Amino acid sequence: MSDEKTVFSKEKTLSFEVFPPKKDDEFASAFEVLDKLCALKPDYISVTYGAGGSRAGKTVEICSYIQNKLGIPAISHLTTVGASKAGISETVSSLKKENVTHIMALRGDRPADMTDEAYDSREFEHASDLIAYFRSEEAGELATGLHFAAACYPEKHYEAFSMETDLRNLKLKQDLGAEHFISQLFFDNDYFYTFLEKAEGKGITVPVSAGIMPITSPRQIGTIVALSGSSIPKQFADIIAKYGENADEMRKAGIDYAIRQIRDLRENGVYHIHIYSMNKPKTTAEIVGGIN
Ligand code: FAD
Repeated sequence: MSDEKTVFSKEKTLSFEVFPPKKDDEFASAFEVLDKLCALKPDYISVTYGAGGSRAGKTVEICSYIQNKLGIPAISHLTTVGASKAGISETVSSLKKENVTHIMALRGDRPADMTDEAYDSREFEHASDLIAYFRSEEAGELATGLHFAAACYPEKHYEAFSMETDLRNLKLKQDLGAEHFISQLFFDNDYFYTFLEKAEGKGITVPVSAGIMPITSPRQIGTIVALSGSSIPKQFADIIAKYGENADEMRKAGIDYAIRQIRDLRENGVYHIHIYSMNKPKTTAEIVGGIN
């Protein structure tokens, strides 16, 4: 890993997360989405990666567009579940050929359709093992110039026995070379403030981006809560109860809630904001307009 300054060490960042298109014929519209997000001048855009890696090429293609066509630093997510060292190395090599050197190291979750054989063949147990591999001599020249971020969980990762254990594992990711953390989405800023305080107490010194997900339709809520495990504070539950039946009002209220969350974060000294854009440039633009 090099000492050069990267987006991960900037003092303030506004970043977006996107996902690659599900179908091959959706790339043109995905590029349009990226063009619109680019106009909002994010510090970087991160691109998700399907657990199992079967669509790794799509992540690489989207990252390449961001990095090379739009001139914005692209962060490629990379998951280890079901992945071999050879497969991971191939993806990293493809990314480097596209000038993408920023990687979000993730474990991922076992997909429901992953066979036991594929799952058992994994060569990395945790995100930290992926980072450790690229710190080892085994990775060789491929590791040169790479920069790693990793995930953190203001409300604790669902498998962790306690916040204490989770933070110890987080510190390990930092010790191995993670230069930045991006948080799981949350709706209650108090969890994030408490988390930051505890993380600092455990020696976490790298920047932590606050993950903000605008909820623009009540249908999203169930899936998002199930996937993220994030709690819904009463204030937000009241909004859903009040506007949930009206699509337009719910959209407005969801965007407004995200804006208020970000303003409060900034007022409390949090200068790294990561918006889960859900590939919706209009919603993202309204939030960016609202916080500036
Ligand atoms: P880990 O860091 O491996 O942690 C998982 C659990 O193991 C935790 O309980 C932790 O405390 C524990 N642990 C960690 N290290 C060790 C260790 N060395 N020894 C023992 N225990 C340990 N999923 C995708 O499939 N694709 C994506 O693109 C994607 N992007 C994401 C982006 C963000 C910002 C976040 C927050 C999550 C994302 N996820 C993605 C979901 C993520 O893969 C899941 O949350 C997964 O359950 C955990 O991944 P992790 O990298 O945090 O795992």
